[in-house]
Amino acid sequence: MSAWIGLGANLGDRLATLRTALSAMGALPGTRVQGVSSLYGSAPVDAGGPDYLNAVAQVQTTLAPHALLAQLQAIEQAAGRERPYRNAPRTLDLDILLYGDEVIDTPTLTVPHPRLHERAFALCPLAELAPDRVPAHQLAAVAPQRIDRVQGADWAIQATRQLS
Ligand code: ATP
Ligand code: CA
Ligand code: CA
Repeated sequence: MSAWIGLGANLGDRLATLRTALSAMGALPGTRVQGVSSLYGSAPVDAGGPDYLNAVAQVQTTLAPHALLAQLQAIEQAAGRERPYRNAPRTLDLDILLYGDEVIDTPTLTVPHPRLHERAFALCPLAELAPDRVPAHQLAAVAPQRIDRVQGADWAIQATRQLS
């Protein structure tokens, strides 16, 4: 199954953390990274702290949705993720934006991600990889949000080369 994962970091060596996360995702059981978006910078939404780096990765995985979430949370933990309060600055955030066409609504996992359509920093990189999954009206609605495309998909070359 193809899944699209949103990556975000706003503490520490953000770029190194995102590259490590990408490598770690590619090393998960039954999983490989199929595509990576450009790298974006964005100001925190509903929170203080440093600017974020964001990207989206497309993975091909045999992991079921909740198993994938658990593995992504382990990668967050390895990156030193702490959750002192809602929307707190973080070393690494990995969100399942889409998992195939599945619609999942459980206490621990909601897919598509419930706030995907509100967020330029998630929709814009997702639209690079899966334009058919991002309706034009959703992109238009988040257009006022300022995000900067800071580097092309080559930000991830070293991380993905290790996999092949
Ligand atoms: P937001 O969900 O608004 O992006 P956040 O990423 O800061 O906020 P977290 O503290 O990382 O929130 O996650 C809180 C909980 O969200 C997780 O423990 C997880 O169970 C749940 N969750 C629900 N749906 C998803 C999803 N699609 N991807 C990742 N986590 C999810
Ligand atoms: Ca998030
Ligand atoms: Ca999260």
